[in-house]
Amino acid sequence: MNAFTAEVSRIQDLTHDVRAIELRLLEPASITFKAGQFVSFEVPKAGQSRPLTRPYSIASSPGQRDRILLVLNLVQGGPGSSYLFGLREGERTSFKGPAGAFYLRDDGARDLLFVATGTGIAPLRSMILAQLVRGDSRSVTLVWGVRSQRDLYWQEELTALAADHPNFFSVTMLSRPEPGWQGERGRVTAWVDARISSVSKLAVYLCGGSGMIKDVTAGLNAKGLCPIYREKYYD
Ligand SMILES: Cc1cc2nc3c(=O)[nH]c(=O)nc-3n(C[C@H](O)[C@H](O)[C@H](O)COP(=O)(O)OP(=O)(O)OC[C@H]3O[C@@H](n4cnc5c(N)ncnc54)[C@H](O)[C@@H]3O)c2cc1C
Repeated sequence: MNAFTAEVSRIQDLTHDVRAIELRLLEPASITFKAGQFVSFEVPKAGQSRPLTRPYSIASSPGQRDRILLVLNLVQGGPGSSYLFGLREGERTSFKGPAGAFYLRDDGARDLLFVATGTGIAPLRSMILAQLVRGDSRSVTLVWGVRSQRDLYWQEELTALAADHPNFFSVTMLSRPEPGWQGERGRVTAWVDARISSVSKLAVYLCGGSGMIKDVTAGLNAKGLCPIYREKYYD
């Protein structure tokens, strides 16, 4: 793991509580990572002399080495997310990385199933971008769950990726849609249970809260054996 200093080059509010933060690397000026890995920030905690460490997945493609993109939601009173939400464009920060065993494997010919809840999309976006430039023909499916319409982001990007790559399919599900939603509703677990009939040719990547990870893993295990890689953000 290396220590990096970086400048906040772009901040984009994606929803009422989700922010994308682009960090341009200063020293060292480039990073090499595997799609799915994370970086860690040391953040101050009120009343404590020792800082806390908080990991954040890299959401950008590993092909882009001079900057990284983070996407995170504000947890009220949370030291990590409050620190990152407090950064302003032009400010400097530092982090360590890359780290983590949740990265896109070379699973031969297996079709890929990615399942995320909330900002669990971050490492999966990096993996999907990396996989789609590989240009092989296996199918890549993303099932992403958020709560309601106001929590949606990156929908145009997913539509454009699907238009450019016939082997890519994505569905975004709302667990608590407001009236007027024409898309899929319910939990990602239900989608996987209903739509995935066989796992024998699948490799699966799950990222988000522990409840989703546990339930989707159980549902898939009931259908058979396949590699399942998991990144748990919180309990
Ligand atoms: C390997 C790894 C990668 C991660 N990558 C990301 C990422 O890319 N984007 C991101 O938003 N978070 C990510 N997280 C979660 C992140 O590290 C922090 O836990 C989160 O930002 C909350 O930290 P905090 O210090 O603000 O609040 P804390 O005081 O540490 O957390 C307060 C409570 O919030 C809950 N919580 C934690 N994360 C979330 C969340 N995302 N949504 C809702 N509730 C939550 C926890 O249950 C916790 O009890 C990742 C976690 C891990 C382990």
